[in-house]
Amino acid sequence: MTIPFVDLKAQYFSIKDEIDNAIQNVIKDTAFVGGDYLKIFEQDFAAFVGARHCIGVGNGTDAIYIALKCLGIKEGHEVITVANSFIATSESITQTGARVVFVDCNKDTYNIDVSQIEKRITSKTKAIIPIHLYGQPAAMDEILKIAKKHNLFVIEDAAQAHGAKYKGINAGTLGDCATFSFFPGKNLGAYGDGGAIVTNNDDLAKKIRMFSNHGRIEKYNHEFEGINSRLDGLQAAILSVKLKHLGDWTERRNAIAAKYTEGLKDVVITPTVSPDVKHVYHLYVIRTKNRDKVSEFLKGKGIFTGIHYPIALPFLAAYRYLQHKPSDFPVAHQLPNEILSLPIYAELTNEQVAYVIEQVRIACQSK
Ligand SMILES: *Cc1c(COP(=O)(O)O)cnc(C)c1O
Repeated sequence: MTIPFVDLKAQYFSIKDEIDNAIQNVIKDTAFVGGDYLKIFEQDFAAFVGARHCIGVGNGTDAIYIALKCLGIKEGHEVITVANSFIATSESITQTGARVVFVDCNKDTYNIDVSQIEKRITSKTKAIIPIHLYGQPAAMDEILKIAKKHNLFVIEDAAQAHGAKYKGINAGTLGDCATFSFFPGKNLGAYGDGGAIVTNNDDLAKKIRMFSNHGRIEKYNHEFEGINSRLDGLQAAILSVKLKHLGDWTERRNAIAAKYTEGLKDVVITPTVSPDVKHVYHLYVIRTKNRDKVSEFLKGKGIFTGIHYPIALPFLAAYRYLQHKPSDFPVAHQLPNEILSLPIYAELTNEQVAYVIEQVRIACQSK
């Protein structure tokens, strides 16, 4: 049996007619940039998240950059984020001219360790970017409390958390704004790059819409210089089709996660889910001391896994200039040696899930 880490083909074939039809409509209408398909998706996604505004942009990395720029983050400022994430989060901070300040992650949830945020705050700190890593919301109550006390903006990086909830509230509506990625492999994925920013702030929404579209008010009337980062019509139409299925797909991810946890909790460390959150399992990450042996064994059995992420951000060559030591981020430094992401997507059959469980158990028991 071969089980790829992600299987976008299986997803496409499950909704082929709807997708093909949507693509044909965009082409027939030549609604390639801007237009009704984008407008409809933005409305649908804002409603899905429960935010007043959604602005489609080129990708999830641009989304973070644009959000920071429109909140006024610039050179001389500092922005706090977590040590265990994808580089998009931190590179967008640098792109604005601000300095990245990392905080270690919590040893159980792998999200930002809220007990360590305050000691990283200086007079230059302007914002915190918590990441809802793997699909589990960060400890937002504590983060928002710290942000309020120190007058900081909060931008949720929700690239992995479409549909997640924190204490009954949708991820993406807790901070000043939130950013999403529609990279093909994300829980809601386009057929190319795509991203969005959601917010309840009318002025911020207006600024974001202008900044991401050359700072324009109308075609050749530019209020300020912006950039070109737009979600195109084909992607928007595809995303509208997929958004209708996202609820079912997320339930299926949760059902698979429950099976994995039940079947593996005595042989590996399974994910710790905070009480009161809805996890959307963009990734199902286990921990084991014999990670490399386990992943090699699984590969030999046709099961493909991932590591998210193999090197914590502060220890990447890109951040050598910050001169961090392992003891600065002990959890984030150790995690990459032990974590393993198992395949998780709605199209996995129960038979495949059972096979993964069986093989992980064999791998862990044959030390
Ligand atoms: C995928 C991802 C991004 C970047 O999204 P792109 O659309 O690939 O630019 C940002 N942050 C996190 C946590 C991600 O997983």
